[in-house]
Amino acid sequence: MPEGDTVWRAAHLLHRALAGNSLTRCEFRVPALATTDLTGRIVTEAVSRGKHLLIRFDNGWSLHSHLRMEGSWRIFADGRRWNGGPSHEIRAVLGVPGSTAVGYRLGVLELVRTDQESAVVGHLGPDLLGPEWDLAEAVRRLRAEPDRAIGEALLDQRNLAGIGTVYRAEILFLQGIHPRTPVGQVRDLERLCERVRQLLIMNRSGFEQNTTGDRRPGRSHWVYGRAGRECRRCGTAIAMEEFGPYGQERVSYWCPHCQPLRPG
Ligand SMILES: [Zn+2]
Repeated sequence: MPEGDTVWRAAHLLHRALAGNSLTRCEFRVPALATTDLTGRIVTEAVSRGKHLLIRFDNGWSLHSHLRMEGSWRIFADGRRWNGGPSHEIRAVLGVPGSTAVGYRLGVLELVRTDQESAVVGHLGPDLLGPEWDLAEAVRRLRAEPDRAIGEALLDQRNLAGIGTVYRAEILFLQGIHPRTPVGQVRDLERLCERVRQLLIMNRSGFEQNTTGDRRPGRSHWVYGRAGRECRRCGTAIAMEEFGPYGQERVSYWCPHCQPLRPG
């Protein structure tokens, strides 16, 4: 599932390909936008807000998209074959001279007025990769619910935006914190937030996500996706469970030795 670094990179590539150009082709393959045509409009910019993408146009409208579980935006130079998936998975086509941006399997695709973007992203907490990252505000929001499990609080995009299940697992391992530890018992939330931000920054321009710094094959993560395998630090079998609010349970990985659940 795409996390903040992936979405930031998608926005960066969309901006580079589209910004400053007027659309020569525009297709939205979703019912609500099927008759909308922005051909001739100039793309002013593409930005990410947490895991949301906004492509802004010179007519005061923004295209809001969310990749959800399997979505992606791909850029193809003219003459290149579109290979992001079968054509029935295409939701948006935005062409400019020389290249075309194609949105596959997008979980959300809608137009909103640019001055009303807050209606779709205004609920988000400080954006870990945003230009206005606000550490104090993120920590304040996390601390507001001291009894909530830290693993759950980190995924709540209203606290801080950009973390998914991969970075949650990895940052909690790096900090030696059990995912079910109540937020009120986590000592250094500032350091945790800054460290996960560094992980996202480190990965936002790379091709392969890596949180260990070890580039050898199969060494890219500490605990994520490694249930039952040996902890890279202590050899204990990595544990896994699904937890979270009812209906939103998400997979969680941790090392029972390096990340003990401390009573009280
Ligand atoms: Zn361990």
